[in-house]
Amino acid sequence: MRAMVLERPGDALRALDLAPPVPGPRQVLLQVRACAVCRTDLHVVDGDLPDPKTRLIPGHEIVGRVVGLGPGAGRFEKGDRLGVPWLGGSCGACPFCRSRRENLCDDALFTGYRIDGGYAEYAAADERFCFRLPEEYDDARAAPLLCAGLIGYRSLVAAGDARRLGLYGFGAAAHIVAQVARYQGRRVFAFTRPGDEQGGRFARDHGATWAGDSTQAPPEPLDAAIIFAPVGALVPIALRAVAKGGTVVCAGIHMSDIPALPYALLWGERVVRSVANLTRRDGEEFLALAPRIPVRTEIRSYPLERANEALEALRRGEVRGAAVLSISG
Ligand SMILES: [Zn+2]
Ligand SMILES: [Zn+2]
Repeated sequence: MRAMVLERPGDALRALDLAPPVPGPRQVLLQVRACAVCRTDLHVVDGDLPDPKTRLIPGHEIVGRVVGLGPGAGRFEKGDRLGVPWLGGSCGACPFCRSRRENLCDDALFTGYRIDGGYAEYAAADERFCFRLPEEYDDARAAPLLCAGLIGYRSLVAAGDARRLGLYGFGAAAHIVAQVARYQGRRVFAFTRPGDEQGGRFARDHGATWAGDSTQAPPEPLDAAIIFAPVGALVPIALRAVAKGGTVVCAGIHMSDIPALPYALLWGERVVRSVANLTRRDGEEFLALAPRIPVRTEIRSYPLERANEALEALRRGEVRGAAVLSISG
């Protein structure tokens, strides 16, 4: 099979011809149709995250058709269309797993990081961690729901019932979250990179009532803010923008250092928290909700072999919505 492989963090991905994976116990073999490109992939490729699998196939927003079943796999049938998210496995026995917080499991397996992902023609995945996908979405448009959508949704839940919601960094996740937030009757304030006029327009087209650059204060205090950009300097900026009792949610897996800040910014029962990974429950909830809104995903398609180009476009902030590798061979 054709695959894009990370041989050493810091290097570009290499196009290789590999044997397709053999599905293990409780695994399905998927013919990959599409795989969205997430900012986390960029952190994995750059070596920002510790100990990736050696000779890794990245990609954790996989849409594929079941073409094979491993021993004991029976949840799905050949031909079913499934989605594979970032959480590829958890131990099921630790205190986190047993308290509906499998996202925090110490022995969790992460797709396209600790196990191979979807930048390839085939992928194997634990059937217990796969999702059926809403029919309303074609393969490429369904792919961004699997991380941008899921993690975005988990971040939105973590923001509580904020009526005035700030989103810092308006990429794949924010363009989905803004649509969900609007549907729930919230008002969305979008913050983009200074000078990014197009980004502001894109945000207003996707549900933001106001868009400005991240150095600006919002026109009124916010009840919560979600930071999608991997920029620690945004934490004090977002704290300054939220009202007393407000929450600032850091939604990324990696962030540059947070600068020292005066306690007065946190005072007034403001909360700073992170969101880590996802639970299967987040997935079931969000994938049921998305077609009812309906969430529309804006995508830019790339062929598999141009995965490096997609990653660079993401790095430069050039992608409006989500970059997706279209893989049907
Ligand atoms: Zn566990
Ligand atoms: Zn992701």
